[in-house]
Amino acid sequence: MEGVEKWETHPHQLSPSAWNRYETCPRMYWLSRQRLPRKAGMAASLGTAVHASIEDLLNMSLDGRVDDEAGWLPLAAEGFLKDRWEEEKAVFHATPRRPDWKESKWNEAKKQQKGGIILLLDHINARELPHERITVALWKHLQSLAIAVEGELVTSDARLMGRLDLLFAELDENGAMKGWLVADLKTGNAPTKVLKTEVNRQLRMYRDILLANNPGAPPVRTEGWYTKTVSKWAAEGESVLEAAYAAWEATQPTTMPMDAQPGPETCGGFCDWKAWCPHWWTWRQSSGTLHQSDFSDAVVLLHRFDKTTGAAVLELCEPLDESGRAIPTGQQITAQFDGRGKEALEDLTASGHQGAIFLGSVMTSRRNWRVGPWCDVLPWTPLPDGVPYERIS
Ligand code: SF4
Repeated sequence: MEGVEKWETHPHQLSPSAWNRYETCPRMYWLSRQRLPRKAGMAASLGTAVHASIEDLLNMSLDGRVDDEAGWLPLAAEGFLKDRWEEEKAVFHATPRRPDWKESKWNEAKKQQKGGIILLLDHINARELPHERITVALWKHLQSLAIAVEGELVTSDARLMGRLDLLFAELDENGAMKGWLVADLKTGNAPTKVLKTEVNRQLRMYRDILLANNPGAPPVRTEGWYTKTVSKWAAEGESVLEAAYAAWEATQPTTMPMDAQPGPETCGGFCDWKAWCPHWWTWRQSSGTLHQSDFSDAVVLLHRFDKTTGAAVLELCEPLDESGRAIPTGQQITAQFDGRGKEALEDLTASGHQGAIFLGSVMTSRRNWRVGPWCDVLPWTPLPDGVPYERIS
């Protein structure tokens, strides 16, 4: 296949999240594979800590403890969460491309973990039981139903993979196994009517890999478990494996940038790779929406920067063409850099960077732009269409 990377040492695998990214915008998927600087985020770190702490609770050893002991669960839960929280904080701070860590989110993490525990208890019809009354025996019963906690699912040909959170046995009223339940913990916003298409696809992919690997499996159901609203949402529908294999083919590694799909639903939403993509910029320019939102992305030149105060004078740029080459417009604006936004600019100037700078999610609603802790401040280095990109490992 033309453009297949020669240096790929391990076979190409497709996960549900990579598939979703490809469906959203092939260029976004392709950029996410180029070992460009990853962005840490508070929501993702909080989610990872909550997930891991719930897995810890399901994996914890209760050997040697008396069956009717109660009162241990809230303490154990908080202990695991604290350890995972600190772990995530260290990873977060070790990531150069990041906003500020928000310690104030600790209470939300506790609340979401509690929601996760209620969802687990719901599986054994003990949803309403106060957590301080959960006995060792009851928790052991729950643990005995967990067939897998955080497991990797891979098809026999190793092309499709997924990381499932929880696989539970489902019992009938006589205690006999009647099926398996794939549960995926979600710490993001819960649906109000139906699961989002991409979540539905992700859950069905887990289900279908599981069924493909276990021909003698009992009936398998799959649900998204939302900790914020303590609600469970079933994913139903036909097998996604054929479509997943087609996506596997389409997502083969290539040095040539994949097609871009700019627009309000893609670039206008969540894309971490704008500093390397010319298309959001040309789309904004041609649609007349450049710098029109309260929070906007921009490509600028830095004319003055006061390291003490964070005050700066910027010159706005416009794209010359589809390559994303930046053309100064002569229009100058003042900006205030603070927090991580200021630190990132200091790092950039200290690295000797000359030329255009990408600013992500700048507050542009005032005359004086604000580049705060949440903003991206990166060299503007768009990777143009039709030019092979050899990533440097
Ligand atoms: S900026 Fe837009 S076109 Fe470019 S990768 Fe992101 S979503 Fe796709």
